Amino acid sequence: MAAARILYMSTLYAPTLKEDPGDADVVSHRLLLRAAMMRKVAAGVYSFLPLGFRVLRKVEQIVREEIDAIGCQEMVMSIIQPGELWHESGRWDDYGPELFRLEDRHQHVFALSPTQEELITAIVRGELRSYKQLPLSLYHIQWKYRDEVRPRFGLLRGREFLMKDAYSFHTSYESLQEHYDLQSAAYGRICERLGLRYVPVAADSGQIGGKVTCEFMALAASGEAEIVHCGCGYAANTEVAEVGIEVHEAFMAGDGSTNGVLPTEAVTDAAAPAAAAPTAAAAGAGTPQPERIHTPIDGSIQALCDFLGIPAAATVKAIALAAGDGSTWVAFIPGDHELGEIKAAKAFNVDAEHPWHVLSEAELAERGLVKGFIGPVGLPRGIRIAADPALQALSSWLTGANEADYHLQQVRPGRDFAVDSWIDLATAQAGDRCPFCGQPLAVERGIEVGQVFQLGTKYAESMGANYMDEDGSEHPFIMGCYGWGVTRSLAAVVEQSNDEAGIIWPISVAPAEVVVLPLAMDDNEVEPAARNLAAALAEAGIEVVLDDRKERPGIKFADADLIGWPYQMIVGKRGLAEGNVELKVRKGMVKSLLPLTEVVSKLVELVMSDRQQYR
Ligand code: ATP
Ligand code: MG
Repeated sequence: MAAARILYMSTLYAPTLKEDPGDADVVSHRLLLRAAMMRKVAAGVYSFLPLGFRVLRKVEQIVREEIDAIGCQEMVMSIIQPGELWHESGRWDDYGPELFRLEDRHQHVFALSPTQEELITAIVRGELRSYKQLPLSLYHIQWKYRDEVRPRFGLLRGREFLMKDAYSFHTSYESLQEHYDLQSAAYGRICERLGLRYVPVAADSGQIGGKVTCEFMALAASGEAEIVHCGCGYAANTEVAEVGIEVHEAFMAGDGSTNGVLPTEAVTDAAAPAAAAPTAAAAGAGTPQPERIHTPIDGSIQALCDFLGIPAAATVKAIALAAGDGSTWVAFIPGDHELGEIKAAKAFNVDAEHPWHVLSEAELAERGLVKGFIGPVGLPRGIRIAADPALQALSSWLTGANEADYHLQQVRPGRDFAVDSWIDLATAQAGDRCPFCGQPLAVERGIEVGQVFQLGTKYAESMGANYMDEDGSEHPFIMGCYGWGVTRSLAAVVEQSNDEAGIIWPISVAPAEVVVLPLAMDDNEVEPAARNLAAALAEAGIEVVLDDRKERPGIKFADADLIGWPYQMIVGKRGLAEGNVELKVRKGMVKSLLPLTEVVSKLVELVMSDRQQYR
């Protein structure tokens, strides 16, 4: 192995910060600033200092290696793009204020690239002509610009960020699928090499097999997305996931004390036909009739549960809303769940200009609805009923009585009221059932580090990019695009891998692999021993840093922990006297003594096996 160059802390530009910077809102933002990896330039814009740049280059290189390996060819496209291209695709208007726009001295308009579909299509158009040249996949790793509404969380949501974006061109959807699968597999390997805990989330309907697009989510509390996932591989955004929800039947005695709460079989939305009749509704005579219960409470689910001593899952929550077309609906969902904004929008919006909304108190009163006591029986005329399919497992509901301070129990769908529309409306939550294997789902937050997308012919058609088939006929390219956030994934690594003392880099992207920490630089045994050790490690091909500053040990330790070198070799006078140096493994802060004579071979072994793990 080639000898590595030693980094010297005495000359390295790495102004670490003792205190947390005031406006840093998440741990990666805080630590990347404190560990002198980067500095803020403007909101959502950062510059990388030498240490951060080393990490950035390594992340970039891992992405490059994996994308090269699937036969995708690297190039580099310009950041600045003529506005005409964006007019051609229609995105000059569609992209909205996120697109950074500028004008040159001749009043020609340009955009700073937020993504490169237009440019790549324009580049190949006219020159990639024959089916014989396809499939073709090209990529670059380039800075992107988006004037985000809320740039925040440091590198996680920047306005200037580094992205790998690939674009593929095909003659068939089978060929597109093949390359899409290769890119997806490469994304999995990139996550593994970055040491990221992740789940791929099919982003369309949350169904496995929904292969049109997939987001790669690094799991972290700071993530903006909430994900349900299962050991069987199912994962979906909670906003769109179609999961099984367990509901309970409550039977109340006349005096209001609970007689019993029976769990029902969870109905899986995915398995339930959209407009199925209630599965458990036993209509007709012989079954108990609706019964009023006096519930002098504030009408919240929590108050109802406390008052009756039943779990929220045994209640039915009512949300009164106005649909985009002006009609009034009451949406019923299991009492322990929340109404999903995205699901509701899908069901009740007409379009972006005509969205649905939850009725205000005034609107409720106008329509004769009693806040906190809304139920399906005795609703004012013209108000329609939507219900989540999870409620099909209930033979009777416990709901509001449309009368202040009263609820009704033993209310039977089909007998006492009719559901106009069974619609999946509840947001998935922890404990809901996997639609594929029925196991309880876990919920975690996720950071979208990459997304693969089957574009189809959208850009080729709008921009007139065609190839010629065997028989001489013209067809638009079938395209895919594949984005990976280089700077965002770097921050995601820090989000997942840190402690109170600082960053814990996986060896694959650490700014260097080993730091040698001489505790007394002017000591005539310690200094030469440390220098020799650093030299021997470098000679063995290990990336080594020598903290040759004349600083107190405490400062060196704190900086080493903060910066997060994977291995620290501590060289002190006392240890040397006994022929030892101390090894500290940053992850877990485990310390051990190593005989000076064995330290190089031991460290080489450790580093090599570590590297292997992230290959
Ligand atoms: P988001 O939904 O988080 O805004 P997006 O879906 O708009 O992201 P894409 O267009 O799919 O993003 O871009 C591909 C990748 O680029 C994303 O998966 C993410 O890793 C990265 N990325 C997108 N926007 C930003 C940003 N503002 N800052 C840093 N990285 C970003
Ligand atoms: Mg995306």
